[in-house]
Amino acid sequence: MNNDKRYRIFERLREANPEPTTELNWQTPFELLVAVALSAQSTDVGVNKATARLFAEANTPEAILALGLEGVKSHIRTLGLYNNKSKHLIAMCEQLVEKHEGEVPRERKALEALPGVGRKTANVILNTAFGEPTIAVDTHIFRVANRTRLAPGKNVSEVEQKLMKVVPKVFRRDAHHWLILHGRYTCLARKPRCGSCVIEDLCEYPDKVEIE
Ligand code: SF4
Repeated sequence: MNNDKRYRIFERLREANPEPTTELNWQTPFELLVAVALSAQSTDVGVNKATARLFAEANTPEAILALGLEGVKSHIRTLGLYNNKSKHLIAMCEQLVEKHEGEVPRERKALEALPGVGRKTANVILNTAFGEPTIAVDTHIFRVANRTRLAPGKNVSEVEQKLMKVVPKVFRRDAHHWLILHGRYTCLARKPRCGSCVIEDLCEYPDKVEIE
């Protein structure tokens, strides 16, 4: 795919959704960090329900620690893997209090050192809470980048590197959300909705699903 096409793809995505953002509910960087950490193998809707209960009682590392492991579990037990997620959350809060005065750090290295936080979560926090032009490649972005040929790669790290290289600067901060939302609602895994896709004429996927 050439750069002109890439530019036009993002122009279209921007036109369709000028201010894209996450579908997770959050008010502070800490709330976003918790929501993202809880979102593995859960839907955003499910996470929002759980965090609404949790944040009503505790939305700082100190308050979560005061709630304790059982307290956290009781608020998020509707989520898959809630046992492990609760343990990670407590460990993460301990580290935030001990090493970062209860604040979410703005550096990638410090974020990735937190229990339960990998590169993808760190990218989401840097991008969405702090406005950095990072791109967190999840399953949706991986699929869209490969299918369209926008930034093909064999694994998420290759796709991330490629996107960081080829996405025009002006679109880089919002690219993350545009691509996730495109994968979630249009370029679906099993049956992409090519008929109602705003970038259909620019996409280089050879097996487009019949255009209605
Ligand atoms: S045309 Fe189809 S395959 Fe290409 S991005 Fe749109 S939905 Fe996905």
